[in-house]
Amino acid sequence: MSGFTRPAKKSLGQHFLHERGVVEKIILAVDPKPGDRLVEIGPGQGAMTFPLLDRHGRLTAIEFDRDLLEPLAAAARAHGELELIHSDVLDVDFTALAGGTPLRLVGNLPYNLSSPILFHALDHAAAIHDMHFMLQKEVVDRMAAGPGGKTYGRLSVMLQAWCEVTALFTVGPGAFRPPPRVDSAVVRLVPRPRASVGIADPAGFAAIVRDAFGQRRKTLRNALARCCDEAAIRAAGLDPQARAEQVPVAGFVRLANVAAAADP
Ligand code: SAM
Repeated sequence: MSGFTRPAKKSLGQHFLHERGVVEKIILAVDPKPGDRLVEIGPGQGAMTFPLLDRHGRLTAIEFDRDLLEPLAAAARAHGELELIHSDVLDVDFTALAGGTPLRLVGNLPYNLSSPILFHALDHAAAIHDMHFMLQKEVVDRMAAGPGGKTYGRLSVMLQAWCEVTALFTVGPGAFRPPPRVDSAVVRLVPRPRASVGIADPAGFAAIVRDAFGQRRKTLRNALARCCDEAAIRAAGLDPQARAEQVPVAGFVRLANVAAAADP
């Protein structure tokens, strides 16, 4: 399906998609429009790259595996204009890459790097229009989870604070070569306009969320002893005896803003 094949490298999380139906569903979800600035993370053997080029005509792709660059560039010529960036995606400055036109990120991500890539994208949220990522289903479940359960955690709060998160569909291991050991899922992330997020101090917010879930069995009063006293927790409308997994995203935003106002 991709036009060329190479042995998969486990260390780079390579599981190549080979089910055309899944690729079509992803492209339908992305629904590229003329003028969109599409950027693919980890094009691999081009399973999504070439159909996206057929549909959109141009695409930037970031690939770390040097061995894939030449065959990708050669096979792409029949499909459209491919700009290949040879880099670790974590070293790519999305804000500079966007240069004023917000990016539409797409990728069947290397699962071992899912969280670092997601947090890296959050650092550049203002330069990103939206993201469509294939990830481990368990990670997508955590990203989209609401308060009150075991799957709700730091990833859920951080992503939902900055983005609208929608789990789209599940993909079984058989869609990939070699098949991963777990189910996968496609998720859509749309960064919220900065003003509507309402977080006064992003670094302080991130620190509070990290501490709150660092020891998730502890009460907020104990887990957050370093940053917030009981009065601050109450001022944010929260119960100091509650645990992090019971606090909605808006509660963490209020608490971070109370803490920021007390320690400007
Ligand atoms: N998109 C292809 C597909 O769906 O068949 C490949 C997906 S495979 C799960 C992940 C891809 O990300 C591989 O091509 C791998 O070489 C690439 N990759 C791994 N680590 C990377 C990194 N740090 N930066 C950029 N690409 C990376």
